[in-house]
Amino acid sequence: MIDFHCHVDLYDRPKAVLREAVRRRCWLLAVTTTPVAWKGTCELVSSASRVRVAAGLHPELVATRYRELELLCSLCERTKYVGEVGLDGSKRHSSSMRRQREVFDGVLSACSALGGRVLSIHSRGAVSLVLDHLASHRDAGTPVLHWFSGTVEELWRARRAGCWFSVGPAMLRGEKGRRLVAAMPPDRVLTETDGPLARGPGRVPLFPWDVQEAERTIAGLWGTSVAAVRRQLLANLRRLATARG
Ligand code: MN
Repeated sequence: MIDFHCHVDLYDRPKAVLREAVRRRCWLLAVTTTPVAWKGTCELVSSASRVRVAAGLHPELVATRYRELELLCSLCERTKYVGEVGLDGSKRHSSSMRRQREVFDGVLSACSALGGRVLSIHSRGAVSLVLDHLASHRDAGTPVLHWFSGTVEELWRARRAGCWFSVGPAMLRGEKGRRLVAAMPPDRVLTETDGPLARGPGRVPLFPWDVQEAERTIAGLWGTSVAAVRRQLLANLRRLATARG
């Protein structure tokens, strides 16, 4: 199992979640919402196998934390994975869009200068803008659009731009999400939960192993077995992990 976008440090009992994820042999990308959380998250996961930590600055926090861009850029030197970064165009955060774009540009430039990174990217309400930024930083590495919620046309533009996609149970619950996933290239798809921020039925936070639900839905969309989906996802992860950026 693969949870390629999980806020491990934000669970009520992160150590217990990690223990269970390790027991179930989940591969985890622990994304962070602020670069200040990077060190603590590294310590938290230090004894866990199959876990990587990404350095990030969530677009929803940019309004108050844009001064941490410099710290984020310095952390990019120390990790192959960067996230959660990106842009949020929803009403609540549109007033910080100028800052958001400065920060996103800054981190993409840092990744380019370092030869490329793997990026877990938030693009709610701002897919076209995110793709514009990626187009002007082609050496930033491999973009993985997390919880893609744009239009089919935007999805095709993202495909052409070489983007990957991480998709989870919350996204796959809706008809629109399922249609989008069906249009994604299977060799550039990974599973995620976005837990504990994303929740399942009954408002219970999603846990890394809940990606099983996504695997079943994807198997239906691809017209294949869960075992075949898992093989494909693991092959994708291996390719991404060995890619230069
Ligand atoms: Mn997230």
